[in-house]
Amino acid sequence: MTAIARREEQLWSRCAGCASLLYRKRLRRNLDVCPECGEHARLGAPERLRQLVDPGSLRPLSDLLPETDPIDFVDVLPYPHRLTAARASTGLAEAVVCATATIGGHPVALAVMDFRFLGGSLGCAVGELITRTAERALDDRTPLVLVTASGGARMQEGALSLMQMATVSQAIAALREAGLLTVSVLTDPTYGGVAASFATNTDLVLAESGARMGFAGPRVIRQVTGRALPEGFQTADFLLRHGQVDMVVQRRSLRGRLVALLAATRVGRSARAGHPPVPRQEPASRRERLADDDAALVRPAGPAAAVAPSPTSGASQTPAVRDAWDTVRMARHPARPTTLDYLDSVFDGFVELHGDRLGGDCPAIVGGVARLAGRHVMVIGHQKGHSTAELVARNFGMASPAGHRKALRLMRLAARLGLPVVTLVDTPGADPGVSAEEQGQAAAIAENILTLTVLPTPVLAVITGEGGSGGALALAVADRVLMLENAVYSVISPEGCAAILWPDRSAAPQAARALRLTAPDLCRLGVVDEVVPEPSAAAHGDPAETAHRLRAALLANLLPLLDVPPAMLVRLRRQRFRRFGTTRGINRAGVR
Ligand SMILES: [Zn+2]
Repeated sequence: MTAIARREEQLWSRCAGCASLLYRKRLRRNLDVCPECGEHARLGAPERLRQLVDPGSLRPLSDLLPETDPIDFVDVLPYPHRLTAARASTGLAEAVVCATATIGGHPVALAVMDFRFLGGSLGCAVGELITRTAERALDDRTPLVLVTASGGARMQEGALSLMQMATVSQAIAALREAGLLTVSVLTDPTYGGVAASFATNTDLVLAESGARMGFAGPRVIRQVTGRALPEGFQTADFLLRHGQVDMVVQRRSLRGRLVALLAATRVGRSARAGHPPVPRQEPASRRERLADDDAALVRPAGPAAAVAPSPTSGASQTPAVRDAWDTVRMARHPARPTTLDYLDSVFDGFVELHGDRLGGDCPAIVGGVARLAGRHVMVIGHQKGHSTAELVARNFGMASPAGHRKALRLMRLAARLGLPVVTLVDTPGADPGVSAEEQGQAAAIAENILTLTVLPTPVLAVITGEGGSGGALALAVADRVLMLENAVYSVISPEGCAAILWPDRSAAPQAARALRLTAPDLCRLGVVDEVVPEPSAAAHGDPAETAHRLRAALLANLLPLLDVPPAMLVRLRRQRFRRFGTTRGINRAGVR
């Protein structure tokens, strides 16, 4: 290509919506919204910030980043190589840019995600930076504005990236308690762990026109259900229709809407403080006008997939340790005891409580009051089954939003009654279905995670079988997290990870090794506090002995928690989930 041709190419760009050839300067003046069809092109974080904040007000936040390859992850490329490439191509240190600024004169702390950087994935550094931004908002007593764009949690950081959902959520909980406004702006696309935490557990959720948001991606849902998806599925207008967002906003109106919302809450704060509100004037119009855009413009979601052939994983195992893939198969063994089995063998006097009080009772979650060695507890767990008929009736232990909301109701009830909560986690993941998305799966999980970070009663979680991503975490933000020896706990299923990072799902065994999803690995990483050993025949081979051991471990871990005052419990729980991004902080100097 000649230099002139290259220059010509930089001057023009083709609209992803209507394929019109557009003059780049004109497109930029129009906020990267196509003047022909209204397609909202994706924005990088720096450009988004430029569009939203008052000129000259931007103050970038700290550059200090934590460890970036916490599990030495290798797929077809070592993870550090992917990071280096993402940094080089975006000029950013990570998938989020954080700052303080003013918007229409209102001071805010902002975190803006950038999808170009590894699909905007949520890793330890991203979680840490957003958490610090929320903490800055708390210190400054300003609102927090989050602009999301993400394929979900970052697979290359394993369960530690899953923990970031809790870390950021508890920072949002602290802002709730302080009466400070939190706003998320969903941009295209927002999926997975980001959707199921800080994208939806904020006070207000705005969706930019054309944005899509959901817990499970459309490809996964199509694969699982084998059905075509409804027209406009998971688009901003779909989300509005299903009550999941406060409004759909055109990009040209976004700043104005934020100013209006920030002004409203500022009035509230001033009124409480006894001062008359200071009128704030939006600076003279700096926005280009644009024809109305009602088109839902859809592009494929998710982080870019690698397509090179696969070497074996970088994970290594000592000979004494079972291969991670064998552990995955053990964890899924159909004869493995279920939550109802443990309620019978470990606990006494279980009384099941049903219903979310909103219209459903999910069979994949069971919960109720029971006794553990004579003490009353609230037990909540995923329920699978042993036969195909049972599994189907229980949706394979994949909870729907109604299941998560039932769990939420029982957690809150337990706190009111002063009952400790014991959760038993055994799920491949939350229900990847059309109706689950319509009913707000992401927000249901997000609310559970946030609520658990502040629940004023002891919470003890046990991963008994499969701990599958956000669906598992929705029951596993706890004071103590135990894990049966042959259970697994992971940010994504090995098959799902293999399908994205390796050529296909047959690389699941390698993915299982790379993800560090076994109990000993997670204990080393601090995600799990204690491994409960299984008998030599494993849980499915000797359920009675397994129950005996589980009961002993539950008592040993629960009894000390009963003496801790609730406020102290919550403080310690928050410290537990705050440390995942910070344990091995390094300075970013030199990464750019
Ligand atoms: Zn267009």
